[in-house]
Amino acid sequence: MARLLCVHAHPDDEASKGAPTVARYVAEGHRARLVCATGGEEGDILNKALDNDQVRADLPAIRARELEASVEAIGYHELDWLGYRDSGMPDSEANTHPDCFAMADLDEATGRLVAIVRRFRPNVIVTYSDDQQGYQHPDHLRVHDISVLAFERAGDEAWYPDAGPVWQPEKLYYSTWSRARLIAHHEKFIELGLESPYDDRWFERPSQDHRVTTKVDIGRWYGVRRAALLAHATQVDPDEKFWFGLPDQDAAAAYPYEDYILARSLVDTDLPESDLFAGIAATGDDAARDGEAATTPGGVDPAAAADPVVAVREPS
Ligand SMILES: [Zn+2]
Repeated sequence: MARLLCVHAHPDDEASKGAPTVARYVAEGHRARLVCATGGEEGDILNKALDNDQVRADLPAIRARELEASVEAIGYHELDWLGYRDSGMPDSEANTHPDCFAMADLDEATGRLVAIVRRFRPNVIVTYSDDQQGYQHPDHLRVHDISVLAFERAGDEAWYPDAGPVWQPEKLYYSTWSRARLIAHHEKFIELGLESPYDDRWFERPSQDHRVTTKVDIGRWYGVRRAALLAHATQVDPDEKFWFGLPDQDAAAAYPYEDYILARSLVDTDLPESDLFAGIAATGDDAARDGEAATTPGGVDPAAAADPVVAVREPS
């Protein structure tokens, strides 16, 4: 049993990025926890059937319930809200709201995440990439920043002494939508005689495929993505081809993987890998408990864990 912590920006990001991976690890007996940084207050209502004044007036509460339904569909054991307001799209007025995530003090925001890391004691943290040229939302950039800092500080007792006993996660990953997946799905649409939603703009996005270290086989769990997305009823148009145009079994057959970039590792692992927990020693069920004495994950030298994290070698 190991523990996986996924950090996301808004309700619905957990559905579109990595939901089948989490479902697979939960099915295999691991523990999974979701951190959602913001309440998604700035989300547009994309489902015409739900676009009315009543829904708009109650959007934050509705999005919270939608996230809970998605969490249930995916199988996450726990959900934490980091408590910030959605910063809105780049250059929108919401960027300067005093409660928004983008305006939050970086050390303070990192401290909230460190407190969760020290309580849950994840072996692996999954976050957004350092290269978000394809989609630059201020909250997504922030999620990356605080996740990297939390990975570096959670095991350092000089940081956040009131945030619980220190804990050093062993691996940090960036989730990514690979070009290989985009091409496989695009070709499957065409093969089936369906109109592909992937136009030239998609193919102009810079590819990160050369950085992918880890392909997780999620073919059996692909359908979880659809269930999780549909749980976000206000945010997702159920007729949207981009999300649902390809039947699940065809999408899974075309590309049965989710792709990750291993950004930091304190354990030995041979790249490329097929498992986020590769190199991590199994831990007991009782390791994630509030108020327990600090321990170090199996196989990690406490002295090494206190040092700056090691860079990961590129896949050959
Ligand atoms: Zn988002």
